[in-house]
Amino acid sequence: MKCIVCNSPDIKKKKVEEEIKIGNDVAFVSIEVLVCNGCGERYYDRRTMKELESIEKNIKERNIQLEEVGRILKPTGT
Ligand SMILES: [Zn+2]
Repeated sequence: MKCIVCNSPDIKKKKVEEEIKIGNDVAFVSIEVLVCNGCGERYYDRRTMKELESIEKNIKERNIQLEEVGRILKPTGT
């Protein structure tokens, strides 16, 4: 498999933090995805998408405990 963005063949499975939005909040979950080492493009296969969907569902149903690790800030008035 080659990267569709930069054509690099250097694509490896890596643990990354994926953002999941819950209303105004954002949860970061660790997940393994294919990442291009050339440009950083992430590739999600069907299994990974399913896994993310199930994590999101579990968060919304409060089956996964979340803790606050920081705040999300935006410039005032935007
Ligand atoms: Zn790439």
